[in-house]
Amino acid sequence: MSNLLRDPAGPDAAPATTVPGSAADGAAIEVLTAREVPLGGTRKLRVRRTLPHRSLRTVGAWCFVDHYGPVPLAQEGMDVPPHPHVGLQTVTWLLEGEVLHQDSLGSEQVIAPGQLNLMTAGHGIAHAETSVPRPGGHLHGVQLWVALPDASRHQPAHFEHHADLPAWSGPGVEATVLMGELDGVRSPAATYTPLLGTELSLHGVAAVPLEPDFEHAVLALDGTVDVDGMLVQPGSLAHLGRGRRSLRLHADRPGRALLLGGEPFGEELLMWWNFVGRTHEDIARAREDWATGRRFGRVVGYSGEALLAPPLPSTRLRPRPSGSGRIA
Ligand code: MN
Repeated sequence: MSNLLRDPAGPDAAPATTVPGSAADGAAIEVLTAREVPLGGTRKLRVRRTLPHRSLRTVGAWCFVDHYGPVPLAQEGMDVPPHPHVGLQTVTWLLEGEVLHQDSLGSEQVIAPGQLNLMTAGHGIAHAETSVPRPGGHLHGVQLWVALPDASRHQPAHFEHHADLPAWSGPGVEATVLMGELDGVRSPAATYTPLLGTELSLHGVAAVPLEPDFEHAVLALDGTVDVDGMLVQPGSLAHLGRGRRSLRLHADRPGRALLLGGEPFGEELLMWWNFVGRTHEDIARAREDWATGRRFGRVVGYSGEALLAPPLPSTRLRPRPSGSGRIA
């Protein structure tokens, strides 16, 4: 996944709706609606982006949330040419279709629904992502970014594929734990801050235990979900804040949602194009290294031109606090 926008939470970011939640357990719920953004590449896949948002930059270390499809592969698909990342992990999760990941470490991996592709960019990596054509097939999925903390963001890049993830279930819900731990069920995926990423398959009324020190958010993927009394449409993100020990969910019809959480990130972040850094110099060096063929290596298996970084703005890029709060 590649970000075409220079300022990912720019003035076109959609407004948020805040409605008081049941204050007995946790903060008010804020429902963030997505804005539609074109992805790079020739297939022109459009994604619904809810993070970063004007009123919310991060949920734990989760700093980027794109949801796309379901779209017929005959009309739209994913073809994102090689592009670089630093300072983050990319998390790819599909509900329908298949996507080929190719990176500059030589990894080549087709991902299918129920599997996790996790790329820890650290100091730098480049990758390309291409949907696998299937007659009559559809593509539906998410790509998320996790910001790496300062102590881990300079590590060498690595890629993980997890085809067999642990499950948790309760009345009305089956969960697949992608990242972190839910109620003692732990994903094998590498994490660098305390966080949670889990897919919830919902039918009827469900309750999911939460870590009260985490902030959480629910992204509806497939069907409308009632999140503690708030109706959340597919592509929208319900931000729950901190302090909840459990979450009540209700789906009239079977549907799926993503539950994201984590300890508030705490560090300031500078997100620009496909880079997550701390300073203008971090970003300018990464951009220069990509433009001059240093640091990131080459994605050998992809036939086609790599993406070019946009020009830097004439003013210095500034880091911003993570978490909630309006962006100046
Ligand atoms: Mn990417």
